[in-house]
Amino acid sequence: MADEIDRASEIETAERDARVAAARGRPSMPAVGACYNCGEEIGRGLVFCDIDCRDDFQKRNPGQ
Ligand SMILES: [Zn+2]
Repeated sequence: MADEIDRASEIETAERDARVAAARGRPSMPAVGACYNCGEEIGRGLVFCDIDCRDDFQKRNPGQ
């Protein structure tokens, strides 16, 4: 039982890490502590809260 919970949280962490990595790094966009797409507060070094916001932003701002 405990193993299953551990595995689930492991997967959750991996998924979150993947989202964070995807949301990270657009050198031309300084991290300002808020999502460029929705304005939500996010961690230092991030420019979007998740890939959905990044995709939204890129759709609305082609070439950015
Ligand atoms: Zn956002």
